[in-house]
Amino acid sequence: MAAIAQRISDIAGTLPMGVRMVAVSKYHPASMIEEAYSAGQRIFGESHVQELREKHLCLPEDIEWHFIGHLQTNKVRYIVPFVKLIHSVDSMRLLAEIDRQASRAGRVVDCLLQLHVAVEETKYGFTQGELFAFVKSGEWRRMQHVRLCGLMCMASNVDDEAQVASEFQFAHGVYLRLKREYFADAPYFCECSWGMSDDYPIAINNGSTMVRIGSKIFGPRT
Ligand SMILES: *Cc1c(COP(=O)(O)O)cnc(C)c1O
Repeated sequence: MAAIAQRISDIAGTLPMGVRMVAVSKYHPASMIEEAYSAGQRIFGESHVQELREKHLCLPEDIEWHFIGHLQTNKVRYIVPFVKLIHSVDSMRLLAEIDRQASRAGRVVDCLLQLHVAVEETKYGFTQGELFAFVKSGEWRRMQHVRLCGLMCMASNVDDEAQVASEFQFAHGVYLRLKREYFADAPYFCECSWGMSDDYPIAINNGSTMVRIGSKIFGPRT
């Protein structure tokens, strides 16, 4: 078996039922995505709008494209016509723009709210307080063309596994509370997107339903 196919099947073999894998293909050429596709992988994650547009144009129609990077409002319109899930909604303004563009495109776009849990300031996302204020405002209920499907987070980039576990556990607690208080009647609010190449086993132990794996499948990014 080719290396990429082998790595996908090795990782897939360790995922419990109910946990899906997003193959993070950013910075890797279309040929490597084709290799993963041939191995049966259908969900791919990208974090740059232009790169995603180009890959979407030249790769198979039935790929489920996920956007996982920081998204600028002025670029939303380029991906909304085809993107399956946007993991990285980090402001009301961004969600409103996704709703507006999705309406124009005649679609409903699935979105996750990004929660900031890491110690690094540089990472994006709502704090817990901001997230509850946002959900409580109820403004999202008026948006007919976006569907909130859960949370996304990135843990701190540290070797301390207990630290990483506590961040995922915190995110899972926030998810459960949101689910109970605001989305109890919304079965589609069911996704916890956490876990990357170095920490996905910890994420799985802490409620993840979707792991986003790049380098462990495709090797280092150039
Ligand atoms: C790049 C990226 C990943 C994948 O990272 P790896 O460590 O290569 O698995 C996952 N999530 C986000 C948001 C990313 O930007």
